Parts: sequence; C-alpha cells; structure tokens
Amino acid sequence: MGRRMPGRNFLFVPGPTNVPDRVQRAMMVAMEDHRSSRFPELSSSVLNDLKKVFKTATGQVFIFPSSGTGAWEAALSNTLSPGDKILAARFGQFSHLWVDMAQRLGYDVEVLDVEWGEGVPLGRYEEILRADKRHQIKGVLACHNETATGVTSDIAGVRRALDDAKHPALLFVDAVSSLACIDFRMDEWRVDLAVSGSQKGLMLPAGLGILGVSPKALSAMGGAKSRRCYFDLADMIKANATGYFPYTPALPMLYGLREALNILFEETLEVVFFRHRYLAEGVRAAVTEGWRLKLCAREPKWYSDTVSAILVPEGINGAHVIDVAFRRYNLALGAGLAKVAGKVFRIGHLGDLNELMLMGALAGAEMAMLDVGITVTPGSGVAAASNYWRAHDPIPRRKVSQEEQFYEAHSTGSIQG
Ligand SMILES: *Cc1c(COP(=O)(O)O)cnc(C)c1O
Repeated sequence: MGRRMPGRNFLFVPGPTNVPDRVQRAMMVAMEDHRSSRFPELSSSVLNDLKKVFKTATGQVFIFPSSGTGAWEAALSNTLSPGDKILAARFGQFSHLWVDMAQRLGYDVEVLDVEWGEGVPLGRYEEILRADKRHQIKGVLACHNETATGVTSDIAGVRRALDDAKHPALLFVDAVSSLACIDFRMDEWRVDLAVSGSQKGLMLPAGLGILGVSPKALSAMGGAKSRRCYFDLADMIKANATGYFPYTPALPMLYGLREALNILFEETLEVVFFRHRYLAEGVRAAVTEGWRLKLCAREPKWYSDTVSAILVPEGINGAHVIDVAFRRYNLALGAGLAKVAGKVFRIGHLGDLNELMLMGALAGAEMAMLDVGITVTPGSGVAAASNYWRAHDPIPRRKVSQEEQFYEAHSTGSIQG
C-alpha cells in the first residue's frame, strides 16, 4: 500500500456504522463484576428501553453476545420444530442467508425467489397462506431492509397478508439494518420475532444480537422441539428476570448501548426516521439526477432509507470503484454481494450521520467512478444532493405556537445589534 492520507477514514459501508464519540467514550470502562448487586440497573434499563425502539409494550427484548446472525438463529430455534414449514422470500444476500440458515437448521422452507431489487412479494405470500388451509406453515420470514440491494419491504403489508388469509403463522422479521433508522412497529404489525444487531442503526460495534419476542412467540417456545442451548430463551428469561445474564455479558457493549439509546431518545425516534429519509433522498438525488445512474431497487416503493445500492454501467466492475475509493480516497463503500458482485457499489446512510459527512462519501464515490472510467459529470452528484438538502427540512416541521413565534422573533434580534 502506498501513501496513507491523514484524517479519518470515511466509513460508508451499511454496517458497521460510525460509532458516535459519546458511545465510544461510554464503552471505555474498566471491567466489573457482572454479578454485582448494581449490575441489574444497567441491564434492566437497556432491556426496557430497547422495547421503545422496537415499539413494543407487550413483547420482551433479549440481548445475546453475538452478531445479528445469532439473533436469527435464536428466533428460529426457540419457536419452531425440525421439519416445520416456513415461508420465505429471497431477494438479496441477507434474505438468502436467513433462508440458508433455516434450511441448515432442518426446517422445510418454501422459498420464493424474487428479482434482486424487489422486496417481499405480498400477493404471493397471501396466495400461499390462503392455500395453506391446514396451517402447516408455522413461520413467515420477511427481511424488512435487504442491505445487499437497498430494498425496504412493507412489513405492515405482510401482517395484512397473514390476517387476510386468517393464518396463524408466526411473523419473523429481520430488522437488522432498519431498526432505529426506519420506522418499525413491532406491536402494531404484530411481529412475533424481530431480529436486530448492534452495528447498524444502534451505532455500536458488532457484538450484540438483539431480539424482540411477542407473547405469542414466547408461548410457542414450549412446543418448539428444535435443539438449542446457547441461544435458549428459557435460560435468558430466568436470568434476565433478576437483571442478570446466563453467561458473561459483553459489558462495555451494554454501556455503549445505554449511551446509544440516550442519543436516540434525545433526537427522538420520529426525528431519527425523518433524518434517515431526508439523507437518503439526497443520496438518491445524487445517484439518479446527478450521476444519471440507476439504483438496484427497481421502484421508489422499494427504496431504502438506510442503504443505496448503485448499479455501475455495463463493462465496469463495481469492485474497482470500491477499491479505488478505499485506497486512493480513504472511503469505505459497501461491496456488491453474491449475485450483484461487481454490478453495484453501496453507500450506507444509516446511523450517526449528517449531510456533510454524506457529501464526503458522494464526492469520494464520484472521484473513484471517474478514475475507473465511469463518465459521470464531475460535481453532479454533490450538486444534486446539495439542491435536495438545501430545499428540504432536516427535521419534521411542527406547529409553532404564537407564543413561541413571539419569542423566536425577539430572541435573535439582540445578537445582531
Ligand atoms: C447486517 C445484517 C444481518 C446480520 O449480520 P451480522 O453480521 O451477523 O450482524 C442480517 N440481516 C441484515 C439485513 C443485515 O443487514
């Protein structure tokens, strides 16, 4: 490797995401006794507050010292028996990997292959569920945000498909790259198993698998015959009831999580979601209006507010864009995975981000594209994003009372004098 430029590496993969300084500082702690009488204060506060992020009052949240993949396994193995039928759609590397895991764990997966660039096919889900008169399908899987293609699916729609078919299957949702970025309503959508992880919207390093479980899913545990040990929720439930874990928790991660939750609640979830939409729209303006390139997501209804997968022109290898961006400009873009390897590069726009950080990613991606021979107009991406962001509010407009208007009008005047 040649010269290394000083300054920060620009991290724009869709996970791990940038860890805010406050969270990093909160994790710089001496190790302590996880069986102390004080430890339950920390564990119960994060477990309770995670419920607000999942938007569940009735469900229970679990934290495993694993990555998101561990929470996938916990969801399946605690609620299903070997041979159980599952319905799932595959339209990207992450929905693929969850299907692959379900098959390897011994479930009978009915896989719907969908074009990469689209999401959960609601009509086909409903048809299949309606046809399953004997209710052999025990679980329905849906990847809320397919990180490989930048596609968000309609989870409320999946719930409607289940309800319209009057089907009792458990609803499993992968919310790893959507939770705390894109609105997720566990109770309202009656999601039974909501899977997440620490290194995306929660702005932490990888290392926590996080799982929201509905009362219906909890009551399915008794009849679920899959073998499980490390991920057995029964052990967690017993230990968590007293504020402890059945094995050594990742202590600094829990302190980091506490701080990350504080940051999210200070901004408020609704503003966090709004900001992700706003930042994503700027990136999409850069891609489509500035560079005149296409997103992998085929229609606006699939556009993800956390990651954009950008199709490179025919004859160009997307991996070269990524490599040049990394080596020459110290910018980490997301690779094209599996079927879309070489065809796309991805910009993650989730977590602790603002416009100007994203401007760095857009400018760097643009320079790298020019370097590998993609004929985008220099500055066009940044210009389109700038036009979008300058014309839009970064936070939802709220109704301002007359009294507040009065104070706003009178409080700035004195500074100018
Ligand atoms: C990141 C991610 C996962 C989990 O990956 P881990 O590396 O195990 O944390 C699962 N699903 C989606 C959609 C993801 O983006």
